[in-house]
Amino acid sequence: MAKDPLAEYHRKRDFDQTPEPRGAAGATRGDEPPRFVVQKHAARRLHYDVRLEIDGVLVSWAVPKGPSLDPADKRLAVRTEDHPIEYAGFEGVIGAGYGAGTVQVWDTGVFQPLDPDTDLGTALRTGRVEVALAGSKLQGGFVFIHSKMRGDEKNWLLIKMKDAYAAPGSAIVEDAPDSAISGRSLEQIAQAEG
Ligand code: MN
Repeated sequence: MAKDPLAEYHRKRDFDQTPEPRGAAGATRGDEPPRFVVQKHAARRLHYDVRLEIDGVLVSWAVPKGPSLDPADKRLAVRTEDHPIEYAGFEGVIGAGYGAGTVQVWDTGVFQPLDPDTDLGTALRTGRVEVALAGSKLQGGFVFIHSKMRGDEKNWLLIKMKDAYAAPGSAIVEDAPDSAISGRSLEQIAQAEG
């Protein structure tokens, strides 16, 4: 039997304490295009969790500086545990325990592999995932590239590809700080749900 891809997600959390969804792996969603989400997370250190739906889970990276629309920016993206699909809609406050802090849905939408013939699971194992995002803030080509350096197994880079949506010099995380689904700032979410 295959290992449960959400075992680590479940082990790290006490679902009597956290408002995060428990979820289950492998939920099929018919012919719908895969979903992505970027969650701004004010944990001990603010970061952006970028998640792509691949093979029934949200494959996840923590990006300390957040995504950029400038192809010259190579953003460190640290691979973290897979999350359930339901997590894409989670916005609220984790009061205590793992990941304590406020979570905002900074951007969300659907995506496809840049080359439609690419199998995303294979691309992930190969260490190079090229996607075209269709979000409200992030659009067009992005590439995730796995570091080949020894000792850096969790480290990837997230880079905007050069296309019509690239915006050299832009700082999208500062220019568009509020939630893509509720319009709220981190502070408003913390006040409403903390
Ligand atoms: Mn996080």
